[in-house]
Amino acid sequence: MIRRPEEFDSDFNLDTDVVVVGAGPGGGAAAYVLASAGRKVVVLELGGHFSPKDFTKDGIDALTNLYQDGGQRFTLGNAFFVTMFGKGVGGGSLVNSAISFKPPDKVVKFWADQGNLKDFSPESLKPFVEKVQKKINIEILDVSKLGRNNTVFKEGLEKLGFKGGVVPRNTLGCVACGRCFYGCPSGAKQSVDKNFISKAMGAGTDVYTYARVSRIDINEKTNQFESLMAVIYDPKTLKTKCRLTVNAKHLVLAGGAVGTPSLLMKNKICNSSGQVGQNFRCHPSTSVTGIFDEPIMGYRSVVQGYYSDEFFDKDILLETYWAPAGMFGLTIPGMGKGPVEVMKNYKNFAGCGAMIRDESSGSLSFEGEKVQIKYVLNERDLKLLTEGMFRSAEVLLAAGAKTIYADNPLKSKFESLTELRNFFDQNKNLGPDIVREGNHGLGTCRMGEDPRKSVVNSFGRSHDIKNLWIFDVSTFPGALGVNPQVTIMTLALRGAEYLDGNFH
Ligand SMILES: Cc1cc2nc3c(=O)[nH]c(=O)nc-3n(C[C@H](O)[C@H](O)[C@H](O)COP(=O)(O)OP(=O)(O)OC[C@H]3O[C@@H](n4cnc5c(N)ncnc54)[C@H](O)[C@@H]3O)c2cc1C
Ligand code: SF4
Repeated sequence: MIRRPEEFDSDFNLDTDVVVVGAGPGGGAAAYVLASAGRKVVVLELGGHFSPKDFTKDGIDALTNLYQDGGQRFTLGNAFFVTMFGKGVGGGSLVNSAISFKPPDKVVKFWADQGNLKDFSPESLKPFVEKVQKKINIEILDVSKLGRNNTVFKEGLEKLGFKGGVVPRNTLGCVACGRCFYGCPSGAKQSVDKNFISKAMGAGTDVYTYARVSRIDINEKTNQFESLMAVIYDPKTLKTKCRLTVNAKHLVLAGGAVGTPSLLMKNKICNSSGQVGQNFRCHPSTSVTGIFDEPIMGYRSVVQGYYSDEFFDKDILLETYWAPAGMFGLTIPGMGKGPVEVMKNYKNFAGCGAMIRDESSGSLSFEGEKVQIKYVLNERDLKLLTEGMFRSAEVLLAAGAKTIYADNPLKSKFESLTELRNFFDQNKNLGPDIVREGNHGLGTCRMGEDPRKSVVNSFGRSHDIKNLWIFDVSTFPGALGVNPQVTIMTLALRGAEYLDGNFH
């Protein structure tokens, strides 16, 4: 059942088998497995619980209610770009585009070799991938239902002879309203609150909302997790209502790539390897906007409905892109009147972007409560991003766009393929300013079998504290190269089944 702050006025304690911190894809999948196995599970979530009617067109409301730090987390280093994380029951799956690619075989093999991971291969993960795909309902829409933003991109790919396809997405009757990033108002998106978490609640799990976990207590004699403390706050005033202490046999951390390492760093635990908060990757991406003569009406399109893996061998993935005007405007180059003039053509825009499997690395630190993410893009990744920007623009121009805006410091407006190709022939690295966002933060508590180099093993179990587990994107040992939610849920199912089988 969902528990809300208005139910509580004074501090209280709970005893349970497993306490899960974070109700995103990782925490949701883990709670489902453990609750279904008969374990008593309590979930604590920083954000609220929402229904489709709560999701409006108001960008400020969406950022405040559905994103950690109001969606205002930026990287520092040689690049300055936004890295967003969802919040609420459903976590990032509430606000994401529902893209549901399975883990690529080449990456799973690479991770297994690099981290010497036990029983970790495309074949051994397959049953878990299939369970996830079934549970979250993967829908491959007919091209006729994708909206013009996606079909122009498809036409451009076909003209150039590039491969691609309809993006598999976890939706049920998506009506292509272009509003995924603000929450799905029709209820079509199958975020984890609708499947894993609702099943866990059916098996007796309570989900405490607006509960911020801050303290983790370890028994010094046994070196085992014993209890944690969360503050339950009023979402309107942000004032503390009461404190909740949970005593549990096992702790599952699933607060995501910033939430989980933050808790470990602040409590000074699980970091004998020195890897907590290190190895931050985020799939940095560029964006390109094409202006067409015909109305595209992306607001009647699937946000990210078509992709091209033509360059995936090089670690570049192209995907269409659409966002409500307030967010889309940020992808138009320049400041002041220039972008405002361009935005007048909003109806005729088609957007797409290139995302890379980054090898650049970042780290987290804290200034008081505020997290700082230092991330330095290397030469290899800058070249990939430049090529990705070129390919995205090339596809839209081939599809018939009259003008292209490719956001980079040297030249951002193009009106023909020849002009575009000449420019990119001469410029193979446009520098870090071409990154627009990196919304797949990962890797900050990486997995591996060697406790000197990793935070958890491949089942998510901490090397340092044996009844502490991490089931979220922070355990990825490197970038994935595709949108990560299916892989997160796959690893969470696998890890939670292992935990259940080794429950003491
Ligand atoms: C705009 C956007 C679009 C995206 N599009 C896609 C897509 O289409 N497909 C895809 O596969 N991926 C997409 N992603 C990425 C994907 O959604 C995330 O990688 C995924 O949600 C991470 O899952 P997680 O369980 O690791 O963590 P999260 O989803 O981040 O969940 C962690 C939860 O823990 C909570 N939490 C954190 N700290 C605490 C604390 N101290 N106490 C209590 N609770 C806490 C948070 O509020 C959050 O709800 C997108 C992300 C964004 C931001
Ligand atoms: S495009 Fe609209 S209907 Fe489809 S999943 Fe996104 S928000 Fe829901």
